[in-house]
Amino acid sequence: MQGFWAEKRVTVTGGAGFLGQHLVRRFEHLGAKVFVPRQRDYNLTTLDACLRCLLEHPCDLLVHAAAYYGGIGINVTEPARLYYTNLVMGAHLMEAARLAGVAKFVAIGTACSYPGYLEGDLKEDDLWAGPCHASVVNYGLTKKMMAVQAQAYKRQYGLDSIHLILTNLYGPGDSYNPDRSHVVAALVRKWVEAELARVPSVEVWGTGRPIREFLYVEDCADAIVLAAEKYNECALPLNIGTGIGTSIRELAETIHEVSGYRGKMVWNTDKPDGAMKKVLDVTRMRRELDGWTPPTDLRTGLAKTIAWYRANKAQADAKW
Ligand code: GDP
Repeated sequence: MQGFWAEKRVTVTGGAGFLGQHLVRRFEHLGAKVFVPRQRDYNLTTLDACLRCLLEHPCDLLVHAAAYYGGIGINVTEPARLYYTNLVMGAHLMEAARLAGVAKFVAIGTACSYPGYLEGDLKEDDLWAGPCHASVVNYGLTKKMMAVQAQAYKRQYGLDSIHLILTNLYGPGDSYNPDRSHVVAALVRKWVEAELARVPSVEVWGTGRPIREFLYVEDCADAIVLAAEKYNECALPLNIGTGIGTSIRELAETIHEVSGYRGKMVWNTDKPDGAMKKVLDVTRMRRELDGWTPPTDLRTGLAKTIAWYRANKAQADAKW
């Protein structure tokens, strides 16, 4: 096989997880030799395991896609586990990468790292322009620390890395566990189950007014592979998103239409809204990735996701 990734050794942490599975498939399709460390063999919250992983499986590119994460619910119930797991995993893995001589480290970051109270779309230059939203600070800050560490490691050790800031993802293989899920997976499951049980209504959290951006997971995997090849600015994070804001109400109505279930929506305003707006500015992404833009529109992505969930419900519900 020809091409940039042919025969390259790529390690993807979290490669068995939601985003990771799609990333691995994409890299393999392009001819890379991919290794996925599994938790039972390498507990990446320890430096010893991170280093052992990279020495036993040397790689040209390390994509750190592993995370302990979830929607607005888990940020309320497990803030300490979110904080500790993600912070130490990122810190140890980057330290191990420089000790093992990894050529390039791709840090998968999150839009939760952005200031939570800014007006307008979120630009990379505003990453440090204010505090994270209180609803996601325990997750958002840990990922942001990787951007700080990356600059220090570039300066002192010459480690090459990039920091990609992902917007909210959805699609096949997501967590459909209601304690952990993000809004799309949560609503898809609620709708499909309401239809199966023939119940007359579905509960949706909050006011429906917050605005979010939704990126289909396969598109996100394509963007990461492209960025891993083409983007090299350690000091400048790169947003990965659609740049399109959709209100939670509009999202819920679209899922309602696409699913075909005709029950009612009941808004529970005792549940938190979270940040009022989280939409990335994708100007730099388009420029750096040769004009790339996500090909899957929301309605198409939701139809694929609902079809996948219906066909794989038992397996999806049992995971995470
Ligand atoms: P966030 O983007 O970090 O705030 O995480 P979520 O994807 O969990 O939530 C996005 C928005 O969807 C919030 O305003 C939630 O209140 C709203 N939402 C509506 N219904 C649900 C639901 O059933 N589950 C979740 N997780 N969020 C919901």
